[in-house]
Amino acid sequence: MSLYSKIDRYCLLPVADKVMHRSLYRSWKEYELNERLTRQELTDLQNAKLKRLISHCFNNVPYYSRLFHSLGLKPDDFNSVDDLHKLPVLTKQDVRDNYNDLISNDISSRRYTKESTGGSTGTPMQFMVDTAEWSADWASSFRAWQWYGFQLGEKMFTLGGNSLVAKKRKLTAKDIFDLYIMRNLKRSSADVTDEAMQAHYEVFVKWNPKAMRGYGSSLVIFAEYIRKHQLPSGHLTCILTTGEILMPTYRKTLEDVFHCPVYDEYGAGDGGIKAHECKLQNGLHISEEQCVVEIADKDGTPLPEGSIGYVLATDLNNFVFPFLRYQVGDMAYIKPEKCACGRVSKVLGQVIGRAGKLIYNKQGVPISPTMLPIMLYRDNDYHNEDSCIIYNKIDRFQIRQDKAGDIRILLKLKDPTDDRSQFDYCITNYQNHFVGSRVSLEFVDNIPLLPSGKEDYCVSEFEFLKKN
Ligand SMILES: [Zn+2]
Repeated sequence: MSLYSKIDRYCLLPVADKVMHRSLYRSWKEYELNERLTRQELTDLQNAKLKRLISHCFNNVPYYSRLFHSLGLKPDDFNSVDDLHKLPVLTKQDVRDNYNDLISNDISSRRYTKESTGGSTGTPMQFMVDTAEWSADWASSFRAWQWYGFQLGEKMFTLGGNSLVAKKRKLTAKDIFDLYIMRNLKRSSADVTDEAMQAHYEVFVKWNPKAMRGYGSSLVIFAEYIRKHQLPSGHLTCILTTGEILMPTYRKTLEDVFHCPVYDEYGAGDGGIKAHECKLQNGLHISEEQCVVEIADKDGTPLPEGSIGYVLATDLNNFVFPFLRYQVGDMAYIKPEKCACGRVSKVLGQVIGRAGKLIYNKQGVPISPTMLPIMLYRDNDYHNEDSCIIYNKIDRFQIRQDKAGDIRILLKLKDPTDDRSQFDYCITNYQNHFVGSRVSLEFVDNIPLLPSGKEDYCVSEFEFLKKN
């Protein structure tokens, strides 16, 4: 471990925890020790945490108190994760409809942040995250990074969108935390033109990171730029992908260009899921002390290991806004066999249902999919309060690009009688990115699902690459 990593972990991190009222240092240490647990001990730990959470929900969270009473259930009816099936699935719609009742009565004595799914699922959804969950989430990643030979305190470069890189005008405590403790230099992948890539590249070379993190689709555009211009590709130890499905072709491109392994991560802030590949790259180890992951059918009946079904998440740390059996919106399966690396945690096989895909404008410039929801904010600014107020009037949206490359923005408003002209800026935002495409804005009562039945915010039939 380098001197900076030691100072970072044992001095800077504990101080930051104090200042920011977090418990990252403690959580990380705990997670490292958990690696020594046997399968039975890990199960026991998970069950103990679940019982505490269930009891809390029963006593303090109106939505769950009501639900438990209506089903004739008491906390004692839940002795292990195998009893979770007694509860129905919590859908995104349930969360939207019961937002206030999902907030714990003792919220004033707890620390939390307000979050939003930001439309990555096609439907904006507000929720809250306990700071304990925030700490656990990063601790889970720190532990996984160590598997790859990367330590906190070593330099990282992040190229990502909405959820990874927040655009701010003022330097905040979080920026200082990112730069000096995480040592993570972040750049937004929203703009994927050659000019933007050159600017990213100059920062990348100067920073000389040991790890690079981001959406697979964004990192691939960066890699292709480096390859096209035959630029030196830095000295990375590993690449960490997150936020969308890692296409095998993306992994290959990244490994070819940067000459280092790519490790994928699966996570959902709403639901507290975190899972990481180990060095064997043979599935994603679930952080089971953080979240109970079930694979179930549409009605919530658990499916046997190996079967593909809906991912249900029970966040074991979020006491402020509890998620019990929350339907994340992805489909996956749990591998019946244990990983050959020797770790006892369950392993998620392929996560199916979200796709990291590139779409193109008529000039052939790729538009990052992470940019599509951002363009629904006035001035593309998702940190501006007024922009957020207008955006939050959207219930669901979908962007459809036809074979000719023209764009249809479909919006379903929460209140259909709302003034529609206030969304006119969306057309300009999209026209700026899809130059030469006709852009239309339509207000609909329903957003059609994909043939697979999955909700998707981006549907494109325009095949620029195949045509040219
Ligand atoms: Zn493994």
